[in-house]
Amino acid sequence: MKLMVELDGQILPLAQCFWIHVAPNGCVCGSSHGDQALTADDAHKVFRARQRDRDREIRDGWAMRLVTREQWDQQAKPCLMGECEHRKEVAA
Ligand SMILES: [Zn+2]
Repeated sequence: MKLMVELDGQILPLAQCFWIHVAPNGCVCGSSHGDQALTADDAHKVFRARQRDRDREIRDGWAMRLVTREQWDQQAKPCLMGECEHRKEVAA
């Protein structure tokens, strides 16, 4: 079965997209392949197995977002490489 999603104005196979785990300050702290989950809630389980942890993160403003490969390169890569603006702010 090949699942397709519409993202950023494009129709893409879910397997070519990425779920990103986004901190309240916008920093991307994790990513997984799109076909590991069908919903943001399921994707969250990939990173936080315990319901209690997910509830707390949602309350604190964390989010799961599905992004294209291009969006991943722009939004997630600098964070995951430790080269993003968010981390500089924390360090400053
Ligand atoms: Zn960041």
